[in-house]
Amino acid sequence: MDLKKRIERFKELEYEFNKDFYQELKEGQEPHTLFIGCSDSRVDAETLFQAKPGEIFQMRNVANIVPREEEPDTHPSVVSAIEYSIKILKVKNLIVCGHSNCGGCAAIRKLEDYKELLPYTSEWIAQSVSISNYIDQKYPDMKEEDKVIMLEKLNAVQQLDNLMTYEFVRERVASGELNLQAYYYDIGTGGISVYDYDSVFSDMIEEITLSRKPLVE
Ligand SMILES: [Zn+2]
Repeated sequence: MDLKKRIERFKELEYEFNKDFYQELKEGQEPHTLFIGCSDSRVDAETLFQAKPGEIFQMRNVANIVPREEEPDTHPSVVSAIEYSIKILKVKNLIVCGHSNCGGCAAIRKLEDYKELLPYTSEWIAQSVSISNYIDQKYPDMKEEDKVIMLEKLNAVQQLDNLMTYEFVRERVASGELNLQAYYYDIGTGGISVYDYDSVFSDMIEEITLSRKPLVE
């Protein structure tokens, strides 16, 4: 695979055939949606929404996590993308998208095993370890593969609660300017489950939030 050939092809085909569109795009962006998804190469917002450049502002990281307002975040790149797209670009939708077969979520289940090899990743995904612990407590007899799927779903919905720790998010949700939803994308079937802030998981998320221990004691 030749990346240089690919960008040449972009210029010769995509750009040249849609020149007017790109000329308009250069004036600015008006995305309607902020997409917070996993960095996983299979979770592509433009493909999922059948969208064009300029429509979706994206923040992707390992396991689609949003740090909570009250917890230390010394490199606030995630919150910066959220703040900018909500306050300045005024996106109408905020979608957190979890997905099947998520390596980040699988690693949350085995955090101790990864601490030495992946210190940065381990520190990052530890933000969701309370969800994994909760599943163990609540469903001790569940099969491990089902626990991982439940973690992938709950982790996406949990991020809506994490988002709501920020006043500027709460305000816009309350006024109806911002629509918050979590998706679970099943890669193998192409199915997407949609969860609102008040979803079937709300009671569980409340219990998980209450069970959170400070990341730094
Ligand atoms: Zn993932």
